[in-house]
Amino acid sequence: MSKVALITGASRGIGRAIALKFASEGYNIAINYIGNQDEALEVQKECCIHGIEAMIYEGDVTDYDAMDQMMKAVLEQFGSIDVLVNNSGITKDQLLLKMNTQSFMDVIDVNLKGTFNTIKAVSRIMMKQRSGVIINMASVIGIIGNVGQANYAASKAGVIALTKSVAKELAPRHIRANAIAPGFIATKMTDVLSDDTKENILKNIPLQQMGDPEDVANVAYFLASDSAKYITGQVINVDGGMVM
Ligand code: NAP
Repeated sequence: MSKVALITGASRGIGRAIALKFASEGYNIAINYIGNQDEALEVQKECCIHGIEAMIYEGDVTDYDAMDQMMKAVLEQFGSIDVLVNNSGITKDQLLLKMNTQSFMDVIDVNLKGTFNTIKAVSRIMMKQRSGVIINMASVIGIIGNVGQANYAASKAGVIALTKSVAKELAPRHIRANAIAPGFIATKMTDVLSDDTKENILKNIPLQQMGDPEDVANVAYFLASDSAKYITGQVINVDGGMVM
């Protein structure tokens, strides 16, 4: 029987790369997205080329009931949820003095509350299975902070602390939880940055280049595999040496 990986925000970028990596390794794939159905369907098609089963699930990670329903639907379709990758994320960058409470809360809602919602919804299923792997997408910004990203940095620091607490709580049930902290990865999220900003960021990356979504996907696959069976509660940076 194939294992099952559910990836939130898998319609594009890093989530898409993770879905394709797991599909290429024989996992059945549940693709969550919020609005881009065409792109989600494209990812589904690309996953199925590997001879596995893939389904798409529209759902807002900020809505606990929607996430609970989604977990039940995935379980009914595939029979288990072996890996949950919490990848959905947004930015609403603004200098602190200009950042309104709504922008602050919107980013916290998707990045941090969304991660809590899916973990809570999946934990009962994984506890019953007495196995499971949770991988949360943090960011190096959650470790070092950044000008104009107070909301994003706070949300990702929260994701790291959440990961460690969940790892401690669920370890006795044979469930592992780890976080990945990407640096500067080429996706739509970083596409919006000006050339000047990109050039400045590159100056602080020892490997002198942006990462590819596949660089993050490879680490997610490793963390989900038995090669990482003794690793839990950790944060793995994938950042070209930006933070060390
Ligand atoms: P992206 O290209 O902007 O993709 C974001 C994904 O999240 C999309 O699939 C989007 O779905 C989904 N999404 C957004 N809001 C959602 C919600 N409320 N509920 C469910 N899904 C939602 O982003 P990315 O660059 O691949 O980033 C993926 C993750 O890595 C994020 O958590 C991000 O913070 C983190 N990260 C990225 C970088 C980087 O340099 N790119 C660096 C560090 C960390 P739709 O397509 O349907 O809108």
